[in-house]
Amino acid sequence: MPLDILTIGEALVEVMRIDIDQPLSQPGPFTGPYPSGAPFIFATQAARLSMTAAAIGAVGADAFGQCLLKQLEVDGVVTEGVRQLPDETTGIAFVAYNADGSRNFVFSLGAGGRLSADMLLPELFEGARCFHVMGSTLSMSVEALQVCREALRLAVAAGALISFDPNLRPELLPPEAARLAFAEFMSAAGILLPTAAELLQLTAADSLDQAVDILLAERPDRIIVVTRGAAGCTVYSADGQVEAPGYRVDEVDPTGAGDCFDAGFLSELLAGKPPVEAARLANACGALAVTAKGPMAGAMTRAEVERFMARQR
Ligand code: ATP
Ligand code: MG
Repeated sequence: MPLDILTIGEALVEVMRIDIDQPLSQPGPFTGPYPSGAPFIFATQAARLSMTAAAIGAVGADAFGQCLLKQLEVDGVVTEGVRQLPDETTGIAFVAYNADGSRNFVFSLGAGGRLSADMLLPELFEGARCFHVMGSTLSMSVEALQVCREALRLAVAAGALISFDPNLRPELLPPEAARLAFAEFMSAAGILLPTAAELLQLTAADSLDQAVDILLAERPDRIIVVTRGAAGCTVYSADGQVEAPGYRVDEVDPTGAGDCFDAGFLSELLAGKPPVEAARLANACGALAVTAKGPMAGAMTRAEVERFMARQR
């Protein structure tokens, strides 16, 4: 069956500190593994919103890989594109939470970082309606960037709508290098899902308005959704700009907000909803994502998201 949404990138499990302010540099208790990896959180949220979604990536032939694969199966994420590599261990993110809301990470990317061109199965691309890429994936390695470039060519050839979330990770790739690495994806993208800071860094514009003008001049039919954390988001298009205010929730775990937001926005857009309506549902997905501990725990089903929106109205 042709896919609604295809993505690619780092398959991970997350192992997290139980208590706040427990540094990763000292012994202490963890909880996990939890299924994770930004593209996989994204695909899971899309599937929970009833989209036919797939993610391309790799796990090891080990228990952590099973942990992620089992979750994807439960949610009906198409896993044909997930390779099990016998010589690698599944990628792990160790995460510590600090009282000020910040997080510290230790990554062991393992199989999660091992994307290769032979993983780009033609049947995943044929008829795919949307291909979503994240800058964090492009920042992993030169090899990952090359594979994603090839995937982009396949997706464009298949006529898919291209969606790009820059997710700048300066610790992986400095902004100037990211600008070069991301350029092809930025120009191909009909949908851009940056933060304001990311937009300024990637366009080298002096203001957000100027950045938006540059991007809309390059491609007048595109939609730019600037996410603003708890404040929600702003939708920019040739028709002008519209604010979609955020929902008030208690933040428990910020992991996955952007990924769930992206999945919510694209799911609604592909369902034929106007961008502003898509942004409202995306805000609800992003808000719900931060209310639960565990990277995928806050990715809700369509019914749950709609109930939440109705309650908040
Ligand atoms: P990520 O680190 O996951 O990539 P991001 O910085 O790209 O996140 P944010 O703007 O922080 O993106 O969050 C994405 C969306 O999630 C926001 O536009 C908003 O809709 C929702 N969101 C995030 N944090 C909160 C919050 N504390 N309360 C309500 N909604 C939130
Ligand atoms: Mg982001």
